[in-house]
Amino acid sequence: MNQRQKIDIFKQALYEMYPDAETELDFENEFQLLVAIIMSAQTTDKQVNKVNQTFFQHLKSPADGVKMWEEWIRNHIRAVNFFNNKAKNIFKTCEILSHSPIPRSIEELTKLPWVGIKTAKVFLGVADNAPYLGVDTHVHRVLNRVWFVKTKTPLETDAKVAKVFTTDDLAKLHHTLILFGRYHCIARKPKCGDCPVKDICNYKNKNI
Ligand code: SF4
Repeated sequence: MNQRQKIDIFKQALYEMYPDAETELDFENEFQLLVAIIMSAQTTDKQVNKVNQTFFQHLKSPADGVKMWEEWIRNHIRAVNFFNNKAKNIFKTCEILSHSPIPRSIEELTKLPWVGIKTAKVFLGVADNAPYLGVDTHVHRVLNRVWFVKTKTPLETDAKVAKVFTTDDLAKLHHTLILFGRYHCIARKPKCGDCPVKDICNYKNKNI
């Protein structure tokens, strides 16, 4: 079986598992989406949503953040990891975006504080359905286990995904792969025995 056939089997299986895959972050507008993605670094979406039930009642626009000040943001997001840095950068983001619209390119988005390539791609993928696959630890792990890439870091994987998948696949695959890594091909105990792609997966520690 060649690589292209494997990729087709993989995509088909994952789309059947998660036909309606979408972001699990809660938000009411694009500004809140960007803030939620910034908050989700090293923190689960579930925890971010819990915190944002209250936080987002007050933070609906960059102007709200500027009005409330950094200390107020810090106090509201204490329950997420790295809350100090995140509060500082969310406040700076509010200051910048209170004067200009949210950028719509990776190059411009990554000029915002705490916005890296992954955050920019996730934002554009969700907000604009842009053809990007944001590579987080789940995506990086799954693609290495199946052996579509052989890389050491999510950044290296990010540089290679465009050669593995077609542009049309990237946006849809993004959420699908995250759910697959989050709930099925789990870091510590992947559910290999019950995995629809086990026959094409090269992971040497498969729990079958
Ligand atoms: S067989 Fe196991 S390691 Fe491979 S993709 Fe499935 S769950 Fe992940």
